[in-house]
Formats: sequence, C-alpha cells, structure tokens
Amino acid sequence: MIIGGILKHYCEYCGTKLNHKITALEKRDQYEYNASDFYMIVECMGCTSLSYRTQKEDYEEWDYDDSGHQVPTTSIERYPNVLAKHQIPENLHVVPERINTIYHECIKSFAAECLILTAAGFRALIEEVCKDRGIRGDDLSKKINKLRDNRFISPSEATRLHSIRFLGNDSIHELAVPTKIALNTVLKIIDNLLTNMYILEYEAKRDLITAVTDIRSLLKVIDLNIRQLIIGNSYTLKGLMGTDLRLITEDVKAYDRLLQNAITEGKFPKLKFHFVPKDDNPNEQTTYYTIVSNKSDDF
Ligand SMILES: [Zn+2]
Repeated sequence: MIIGGILKHYCEYCGTKLNHKITALEKRDQYEYNASDFYMIVECMGCTSLSYRTQKEDYEEWDYDDSGHQVPTTSIERYPNVLAKHQIPENLHVVPERINTIYHECIKSFAAECLILTAAGFRALIEEVCKDRGIRGDDLSKKINKLRDNRFISPSEATRLHSIRFLGNDSIHELAVPTKIALNTVLKIIDNLLTNMYILEYEAKRDLITAVTDIRSLLKVIDLNIRQLIIGNSYTLKGLMGTDLRLITEDVKAYDRLLQNAITEGKFPKLKFHFVPKDDNPNEQTTYYTIVSNKSDDF
C-alpha cells in the first residue's frame, strides 16, 4: 500500500463501492506479531469526496479472495460511518420532527454497528409513530396490530415486525442483541411506513390538490386524510379535513351536506354518518362521520 495507490472503498455520495486513491497513509506494525495497521485518507475517483479508512491486515491468519488467491485476514473501519446500500427516503423532512430526529439517530447508530441501541431506537420510532396517529397503550405488539388494522402497514409487514422478537420485549433489560439482517428488515418496514404515512400524502397533496371546489375534490382530500385516521373513530368534517379545511373557501356547511348526500348515495362507502344534538342548542345538530375503511385504493 502506497500513497497514490488505488483501492475499492464504499463512497457514501456515489452510493456504491468505487476506486479510491490513497492521499495520506500511516503504517504501524504490531509488536511481536506479523500484522500491520494502515491509517489512510482516501479520495473517491467518481466524486472526489474524501473519507477516512483504517485497514488492519493479519499475516498469520490467511483468507481467500473471490478469485481464490490467498490474502491476509483484513478488517476495515471507516469514517464517516455509512449504511451501505441504504437510501434515506426523499422528502423525509415532512415527517414530524421528533420522528425525524429518532430516525436519523437510528441510522447513525446502525452505521456504527451499535445494534442494541439501534433496535431500541427503532422501537422508540414505532412507538412515536403510533402516538402521532393516536394509537395508545403500553403493549407494542397490540400497537403493531393497530397499525395493521388501520392499514398503515400491510399484514405481511406486521407479521415481520412481530417475528422480530427483540422489538416485542417490553423491558429494555431483555433486549437481545439483534442481527444486522433483522435490523435491515425493520429499517425497510420503517422506510415504507414513513413513506406511506407521511411522504406520499404530502407529495399527493402538493401535486394534486389546490382547492376544494366540488364534491369530487372534497372526497379526494378526505380520501387522503382518512388514511391517517383510526377506523371506527368518529370525526366532524373539520376533524376529517384537519388543516386542509382552509382549502374550502366557500360555505363549509354546504360541503357537510354534499358529503352526507354522497355517503347516502353510496358514492363514498369509506364513511358513515350520524347526528348528535349540540350541547348549547339541542335544536341544532353536529354531524359525525365514522371511518368504515381507509384503504388507499381509489374511490
Ligand atoms: Zn464518490
């Protein structure tokens, strides 16, 4: 190994293993044992970014490379740590700040191979998503079922989450050391969860909806919003619309009636409705809409 020499190294910016040039190098031989440590700064020959690499070579324990040649047993450490082959979902900034913070801490901790901390972080992240969606309780396993029942995750994703035992332990003292394969599965499910629950909704609204001008555009907004609400719970029109209520620029009550007509005529079977007399004036009523289904297919 020499300054100016070329080696294969993972580039976090190019997202793959590429040729890197050694730009700085220090070698230390071990005392009374045939092994050497190489400390180096390497430059990506694709994007010119720099990273740090330690390569430890043991000349007393031999190994074979892909072409069957004998090579010294080698271990590699690098900085910054990266999760090779993992892409952080685009537009992650739209997820609630606390979830976003936990996510990034999990990625750093996983890249640094702190597997127990990563597992605890993933668990905290799933708990936080449940809290954000109004799913309460102490038992993570029941909360995973509620995520599934409300179609935030698919039944097969829920089964995979359940099968990962360390996530089901309610006491941190019982946390088993998880494998990287299991953590990769959880990360994939979490990436899907955040994409389905927050990012796609954000992109759909940004790209599709500018204002509610008729029953069709109203149903489109409600269809997007109820995916984040709980099946069986009842909401007023305001509750269904959330901050999107501002998209209705005309008489809100008129849209309340339009929505009731659409449900009565069977045009929007994902909701049913009932009336409740107002506390301060029993002659007037508030309409509550109960979520029957919040599947993401088109109505
Ligand atoms: Zn690069």
